Amino acid sequence: MKARTLQKDKVNIITLGCSKNLVDSEVLSGQLAANEIDVVHENKKLDHNIVVVNTCGFIDKAKEESINTILDQLELKRRGKLDKVYVTGCLSERYRNDLEKEIPEVDAWFGTLELPLILKQFDADYKTELLGERLLSTPKHYAYVKISEGCNRTCAFCAIPLMRGGHISKPIEELVKEVESLVQKGVKEIMLIAQELTYYGLDIYKKRELPKLLDALAAIKGLEWIRLHYAYPSKFPLEILDAMNRHNNICKYLDMPLQHASNNMLKAMRRNITREEMTELIHTIREKVPGICLRTTLIAGFPGETEDDVEELKEFLKLHRFDRVGIFQYSHEENTSAYDMEDNISAEIKAERAQEIMEVQQEISLEKNMEKVGKTFKVVIDKKEAGRYLGRTEFDSVEVDNEVIIHSKNKLQIGEFVNVQITKAYDYDIEGEVV
Ligand code: SF4
Repeated sequence: MKARTLQKDKVNIITLGCSKNLVDSEVLSGQLAANEIDVVHENKKLDHNIVVVNTCGFIDKAKEESINTILDQLELKRRGKLDKVYVTGCLSERYRNDLEKEIPEVDAWFGTLELPLILKQFDADYKTELLGERLLSTPKHYAYVKISEGCNRTCAFCAIPLMRGGHISKPIEELVKEVESLVQKGVKEIMLIAQELTYYGLDIYKKRELPKLLDALAAIKGLEWIRLHYAYPSKFPLEILDAMNRHNNICKYLDMPLQHASNNMLKAMRRNITREEMTELIHTIREKVPGICLRTTLIAGFPGETEDDVEELKEFLKLHRFDRVGIFQYSHEENTSAYDMEDNISAEIKAERAQEIMEVQQEISLEKNMEKVGKTFKVVIDKKEAGRYLGRTEFDSVEVDNEVIIHSKNKLQIGEFVNVQITKAYDYDIEGEVV
C-alpha cells in the first residue's frame, strides 16, 4: 500500500473547521505516531502517500471547503501522487451515505467518533494508555483542551448535535493529566473548548462542575493562562466568575456566543434566554470580574429577521460594547428545527446585515483599543513576521482576536511573556514596545 516512490507510509492530516476538530486530528496523529506510523499535519511538501481529510459540516461555506479539499486530494491520487484518501469529521458524519455514492474514489469515510476504525486502516491499535496524549499542531506554547464532546442544546439553526451527538464530559482527573502532560511539553496557555462549556459535568457529576475543573487546572504549575471559550448564556453558572477571581492564571476573558439580541429572534432561535436576561447577565459578569474581556458571536439573516431586529441588535452592541465580536451569515441546515422555516432573507441582505453589524463593532473596537494606549500589558509572543513580533494579551485568544504588534531591539523568544507598553491603536490590533 505504498506510492511507488515511498519506502514507508507517511500520513498527512488536513484539518478543516473548528478547534474541536483540530484536537481530534491531534489525537489521531498521536495514535498513529505511537503505532510508529509517520504522520504530519497540513504538510506542504508532497512527501506523503496517504491523506486523512478531517472535515467540517457546520454551514454551507464550510461544507463547500470540505468538498473542494477532498476533490483536490483525489486529483493528486488520480495523478499517482497519493495512494489513499480517507475522510472523517463532521461532513462525513452527517452525509456519509450520500457522499459514498457521489464520491466513490474516497477510500473510506469515517464518523466523528470512529478513531479506532481509522487506525484499523493502518493495522494500528487504539492505545488507551495514550488517553489525553496527542501530537500538537499548534505552536508549542499554547494548546486547545476539549473538555467535552457533543451538545444537548436545541438551538434552531445548529446542526452540531447531529454531527457530534449528545454532551459527554471528560472526567476532571483525565483533563488534569492531559494538561499536566501538555505543560511538561512546554504549553503555557490553554484554550478550554467544548460545544457548550458551561454544561460541563451535568452528565457525569449530575451538576455543573466547570468551577471545580478550573480550580484543579489552575493549580498546575507552569500554566500561565487558562482561557474559556463557548459559554452558553442561559442559566450561566456565576460560580465560574468566582473561580476566575480565585486564580491569577485564569484569563479575565469569556467567549459567550449570544447569536442575537432581539427577543423575536432569540425565541425563534430557541436560545432559552431574553435580551433583558442577557443584559442582566452581562452587568453581573462585569460587576463580578471588572475589566473582563467579553467576546461574542452573532448570526445575521435568520429566517424572519426584520430590519427592526437588526436595529435592536446594533443598539445592543452599542449599549454593551463587547470587546470582540464574530459574525456568521445564517445557513439553512437540513434536519435542524429552523429548516422548517422559510429561509426568506436573501444572501445579499444577509451579507449586508453582517457588514452593518461589524461596522458598529469596528468603531467600538477602535475606541476600546485607543483606551489601551499608554498602558502596559503582559503579552505572549506568538510569532515573528516581517521583522516584527506578534503577540497577544490575556484579552486576546488565538486565531480569532486582536494581535499586539511589538517592536523590540532585543531578540524575543516565541512563547515568552513580556511587558509591552501600547503606543498605537488600530481598528482591531494594537502596537507597542517592550518595557
Ligand atoms: S449550544 Fe452551540 S453547539 Fe449546542 S446547539 Fe447551540 S449553537 Fe449548537
